[in-house]
Amino acid sequence: MSDLRFRVVEAAFRRKAEEVVYPSERPSLYFAKNVFNREKMHKYLPAQAYEKLIDSIDNGMPLSRSTADAIAAGMKQWAIDMGATHYTHWFHPLTEGTAEKHDAFVEPDGKGGMIEEFSGKLLIQQESDASSFPNGGIRNTFEARGYSAWDVSSPAFIVDDTLCIPTIFIAYTGESLDYKAPLLKSLDAVNKAALDVCHYFYPDVKKIYTYLGWEQEYFLVDEGLYAARPDLLLTGRTLMGHESSKNQQLEDHYFGAIPTRVLEFMKELEIEALKLGIPVKTRHNEVAPNQFELAPIYEECNLANDHNLLIMALMRKLARKHGFRVLLHEKPFKGVNGSGKHNNWSLGTDTGILLMAPGKTTEDNLRFITFIVNVLMAVYRHNGLLKASISSATNAHRLGANEAPPAIISSFLGTQLSLILEHLENSNSDDLDIAGKQELKLNIARIPELLIDNTDRNRTSPFAFTGNRFEFRAVGSEANCASAMLALNAAVAEQLKLFKAEVDAKIAEGKDKFTAILDIIRKTIKVCKPIHFDGNGYSDEWKEEARRRGLDCETSVPLIFDNYLKPESIKMFESTGVMNRKELKARNEVKWETYTKKIQIEARVLGDLAMNHIIPVATKYQTSLIDNVYKIKDLFPAEKAAYLSSKNMELIEEIAKCTIAIKEQVDHMIEARKVANRISSEREKAIAYHDTVVPKLEEIREYIDNLELIVDNEMWTLPKYRELLFIR
Ligand code: ADP
Ligand code: MG
Repeated sequence: MSDLRFRVVEAAFRRKAEEVVYPSERPSLYFAKNVFNREKMHKYLPAQAYEKLIDSIDNGMPLSRSTADAIAAGMKQWAIDMGATHYTHWFHPLTEGTAEKHDAFVEPDGKGGMIEEFSGKLLIQQESDASSFPNGGIRNTFEARGYSAWDVSSPAFIVDDTLCIPTIFIAYTGESLDYKAPLLKSLDAVNKAALDVCHYFYPDVKKIYTYLGWEQEYFLVDEGLYAARPDLLLTGRTLMGHESSKNQQLEDHYFGAIPTRVLEFMKELEIEALKLGIPVKTRHNEVAPNQFELAPIYEECNLANDHNLLIMALMRKLARKHGFRVLLHEKPFKGVNGSGKHNNWSLGTDTGILLMAPGKTTEDNLRFITFIVNVLMAVYRHNGLLKASISSATNAHRLGANEAPPAIISSFLGTQLSLILEHLENSNSDDLDIAGKQELKLNIARIPELLIDNTDRNRTSPFAFTGNRFEFRAVGSEANCASAMLALNAAVAEQLKLFKAEVDAKIAEGKDKFTAILDIIRKTIKVCKPIHFDGNGYSDEWKEEARRRGLDCETSVPLIFDNYLKPESIKMFESTGVMNRKELKARNEVKWETYTKKIQIEARVLGDLAMNHIIPVATKYQTSLIDNVYKIKDLFPAEKAAYLSSKNMELIEEIAKCTIAIKEQVDHMIEARKVANRISSEREKAIAYHDTVVPKLEEIREYIDNLELIVDNEMWTLPKYRELLFIR
C-alpha cells in the first residue's frame, strides 16, 4: 500500500489555515511603506538632488556623478532606517522571473574596520559576472561582460533585509540581455509616435503613457501533495493524472466562496503587495477548482510589469508559509482550464485622456477612432509576431485548446464599435463635415452613448476591445508581460508613424486635416479588416476562415518564433529603435534553447516516473491478479474457474498491454531525444523536440492514465487529480 500518498492526503485534509496578523494601521497608511517613492525621496535627498532625480524620472534627463552619489547616500540612509543590510540590482533576465545578487552595504574602511558604504557608482551601474544567464551568444561572441544599470523610472524597494534597485541588463556592446531594456525603448517609441498623432487633436499634450493592468491567474496546491508529485516539482505541471470524476462541469468554483485557508494566504499576499506599492484590488476564484485570480489597478506599463514580477515572487514565497505551492504554469492540469495573464493595455495623455476611450466631442471621437484603427492595423500587420511574443513551451498547452485564446491572433470589437467602423468604411468624405463640427451623418459625436452600455464580451478572443482599452488575453500566466507589451508597443509605434506620414502627405496636398485623417482611416479599416473577428474563436470554422484571411495559423512554437526574424519584424523593431537584428537573432536562440530544455526535462521526468513508479506499481497489482486467478483455479472446477476469473484475466491482459506500450514508447522517446540532441542548430533542435518528443509525452500519458483507473487505489503512489484539485 502506498503509505506516503495516504499520509500526505490526510495531512492536507487536516491542515488548518494560518491566521494572518493584520497591520494595526489602515492600508492607506502602510501602502508603499517599503518603496523609495517620491515622498521618501523628498525626505531623504538634498533639495537639488531630489529635483534632478525627478527631472530624470519625468523627462529622462541624465544624472551627474555627484547627484548620483547624493541619491545613493539618501537611499542608503532610508534603507538602513528600514532595517536593510544588503542591496541588490534587480533585473529581468531572459528566463522567467527576476535575478538578483545581494551585496552587503558594509565595506572595509582601510583601518581594519567596516563602514556602511553605497556610492552613486554602485547605485547606477554594476558589472555582472552572471555569465550563466541566457544571452543567445551575444556575450560569448562579442563581449564577455554585461552590466546592470539603474532604471530611475521604477522606484527602489525593500524585500526582507535587501534594498532592491530595478535595473536593465545589457552587454558592454549595448545589446539588451533582458526584458526591461527593450520594454523601456518600446515605451519611448510609443510615446513619440502617439504624441505626434495626438497633436492633431490636442496640441498641448506633452507625454503619452502606456498603461498595463494585468490579471494574474494561478493554482494553489497543498504543499505535501505537491512534494509527492515529482512532475509538479520538476516541471510545474502534471505530466500524468486521470481526470477527476468531478472537475469544473458544475461551474461551482467561479466566484464561489473562497476557502478559508486560501483566503488567509490572499490576505497576507495583499498586505505585503500593498507595502510594496502594488495597488492590488480584485481577488476571486477562477473557473477551475483551486484556481484563483488577482488583479491590481492598472499602472504605467514599466512599473506594472515590475509589480507583476514582484507579485509572482511574493506568491511563491507566501504560499509556502500557508502550506501551499503556487502553480504559475499555464496548464498544470489536463482537462481543466489553464491560467493566463490578461494584459489590459491602453494609452493615455499627461492631461488625463485615455486615447482608446470615446469622448464627448467630435474631435474626441475622431481621436478615439484614429487610435483604435491604428492599433488594429498594427495587430493585423504583426499578428504572427504578437503570437510569437506570447508563445512558449508552457503556454502552448493553453493556446488552441478549447478554453483559452486560440493560436490565431484576432481582435474582438463588439457590436457597437464594429458598426461604427463599418459605417465609416462605407462613407465617403463628401458625407462628412467634421471640420465644420456640425452634426454628422456618421454621428461620430454620439459614440459615447453607444459604447457606454457596451457590455458584450467575448471570452474566446485573444485581443479584445473592452470599452477604453484592449485586453491581450493570450499572455501566459508564467510569462514576463514585457515580452508581449514590447512587441505590441513597437508595432503600434511603427503604425502610428506610418499613419502620420500618410496624413501629412494628404495635408501637404492641400487637404483639410480632419478629412485627411478620415481618408487614411477609411483606407486602413479596409486593409486591416481580416484581423477583426467577433465570432467564436474556438470553432473549427474560424481556423478555416482565418487561413483564408491570411492570418498566421502556425501552431508549432519553434516555428512561431520565426516571426521575430521576418524582414517586416526586423524592420519594425529597428525603425522604432526597440531592438536590432543582432538582438533579435540572439533572443531567438535563447527562445529555441529554452523550448528544447523544457521539453527535454519533461521527457526525462515522464520517462523516469513511467519506469520507476508506474510500471512497478501496475506490475505489482497485475501479480496480485495473477495470484488470484491461480487460487481460483485451485479452488474451483476448470470450467467454473475460467468463468470466475475471466474479468481478472482481461485486466491482466490490459495491464500488460499498457505496460508494454509504455516501455516501448519510453524507448522511442529516448531515441527521439538522442537524435534531436545531435542537431547543432537550436532552431532545428527545437523543431525536432516539438515534432518527435512532444507527441510521445501525450501517448505515454494516455496509457498511464488508463492504468490509474485500473490499478488498486491503495497501491497508486502519486496523488491523484481529485486530491490535488479539491483539497484546501
Ligand atoms: P475584468 O472584468 O476583465 O476582470 P476589471 O475591471 O477587473 O476587468 O479590470 C481588469 C484590469 O484592467 C484591472 O487591472 C484594471 O485596472 C485594468 N484596466 C481598467 N481600465 C484600464 C485601462 N484603461 N488601461 C489599462 N488597464 C485598465
Ligand atoms: Mg478581464
